Amino acid sequence: MSSSRRVSQLAYWSILVAFAVMGIKFVAWWLTGSAALYSDALESIVNVIAAIIAWIAIGISNKPADRNHQYGHQKAEYFSAVVEGVLIVLAALLIFYSAYGALSVDHQIVAPVQGMLVNGIAAAINAFWAWLLISTGAREKSPALLADGRHILADVVTSIGVLAGLILTIATGWIVLDAIMAFVVGANVLREGWKVVASSVDGLMDVALDAEEAKLIEDTILANATGAIEVHDIKTRASGPVSFVEFHLVVDGSMSVKAAHGICDRIEAAIHSVVAGAKTTIHVEPDSKEKDSGLKIS
Ligand code: ZN
Ligand code: ZN
Repeated sequence: MSSSRRVSQLAYWSILVAFAVMGIKFVAWWLTGSAALYSDALESIVNVIAAIIAWIAIGISNKPADRNHQYGHQKAEYFSAVVEGVLIVLAALLIFYSAYGALSVDHQIVAPVQGMLVNGIAAAINAFWAWLLISTGAREKSPALLADGRHILADVVTSIGVLAGLILTIATGWIVLDAIMAFVVGANVLREGWKVVASSVDGLMDVALDAEEAKLIEDTILANATGAIEVHDIKTRASGPVSFVEFHLVVDGSMSVKAAHGICDRIEAAIHSVVAGAKTTIHVEPDSKEKDSGLKIS
């Protein structure tokens, strides 16, 4: 199965998992009447919407380059991740609202053990799914999958907090703790939403490849540029699963176009073999364009 197909299939399954988890979390609330469990359940509606958006974005991202988008459609995933971040923030506001309601109106918690067990099952499913999404998202460089995975992981942390709070509430008999826990849930969700938005905006702003990958590319260029004189102005940018690399290659001014092109093809192939999905553009220059900052080819 191709990697883009694997990503898209995982995104599709995420929708079904999100639906199932939402159902389970509402059962947990319905069993107990807990404000904290209710806020946790409300948040899972956002997960369903987010999973659908991620799936659509991944579908758009997989479309090949066309006349209007000649560099491909990968950035669609960043948009979905931004929307996901905004949705998470909305969920946080919803949670604050319900927590405030629980503070002002006296409420009771019934069947806490059953409720906690049911919510615990939902959290366990989420934990497994978040791990799957984050590991696959990192490997396939899918911002949409990564954002979805981080979001779900935040929910797992949230659920653990809710369960701990519920245990405390029952142990102390202090019902206000339940509402306070719902506020804490909201704050955690808010934080996660902000992180998702920030990292996606970075992608939209043509963020460079990470230092480790940039170094790998530089070493690969130098190791495969035999016959050229120097390399300078190496620039990289990440666009979802595609990594763009650009640089100037200085060769002897009297070298034939054919020979210079041969060096370029060799470097391009080498970069492609170390960074999957890399697209390299090389600007060839004569020796009069050498720079002090240039990396000499030994
Ligand atoms: Zn130059
Ligand atoms: Zn060529």
